[in-house]
Amino acid sequence: MIGIQGLTKRFGDTVVLDAIDLDIADGERVVVIGPSGTGKSTLLRCLNFLDAPQAGTIRIGDLTVDAAQATRQQILGLRRRTAFVFQNYALFANKTAKQNIMEALVTVQGRPVQEAEARATEILAQTGLADKAESYPAALSGGQQQRVGIGRAMALGADLMLFDEPTSALDPEWVGEVLDLMRQVAEQRQTMLIVTHEMQFAREIADRVVFMDGGRIVEQGPPSQVLDAPQDERLQRFLRRVG
Ligand code: ADP
Ligand code: MG
Repeated sequence: MIGIQGLTKRFGDTVVLDAIDLDIADGERVVVIGPSGTGKSTLLRCLNFLDAPQAGTIRIGDLTVDAAQATRQQILGLRRRTAFVFQNYALFANKTAKQNIMEALVTVQGRPVQEAEARATEILAQTGLADKAESYPAALSGGQQQRVGIGRAMALGADLMLFDEPTSALDPEWVGEVLDLMRQVAEQRQTMLIVTHEMQFAREIADRVVFMDGGRIVEQGPPSQVLDAPQDERLQRFLRRVG
């Protein structure tokens, strides 16, 4: 359902994504691991043109985009088919939890306000935040803010959900509730591409683990293979370090 071919991103002379190939099946959960600075965030960001790749093709559902000559229309198409969960939540500080969830439904998807509000209310209930609907981000814990961030992405009904280290900015006490919500999303057979350092979670949730180093996919396979029987020396070293 999702096909990435030859995806290439350079910042100046630095090649950050070196012709990445990656196919993701419908409902598949792919976890990306790797040392910092290897292009994991850039990979996610290139899929919706938060960073514009210089080359490669991205296919999501019925839309295929040649990165080198992507039109505005195609970029909007990729953005409508993906939903992004950021490490730092990226909520609007001046909007309530409910308004944060409604925002893209109205501005990106063009839904009527009333319908967006009904959808946001439904999502707040699913994420256990019904009583926080009218709260502003500053009045929420880190865990609650990230659950709003995930709820906002869930509300979009996107073909692909992208998670960029969704628990890395959290105090340890809030990590569990955010991972629980991600498990709940996974149970809905949502296609997910997740960057995380939570190895136990990766083992449990991933259909496939992808190890990146230096802008390339070095090794991939089921968690039992990649995490328990790593072949590449760089992956072995990485796993020793993250324990
Ligand atoms: P990761 O998420 O694996 O830690 P990133 O994708 O954030 O890695 O970054 C990969 C490389 O690209 C790093 O060397 C980083 O410094 C560089 N990079 C990322 N964003 C930019 C940018 N906007 N301008 C220049 N270099 C960048
Ligand atoms: Mg990153």
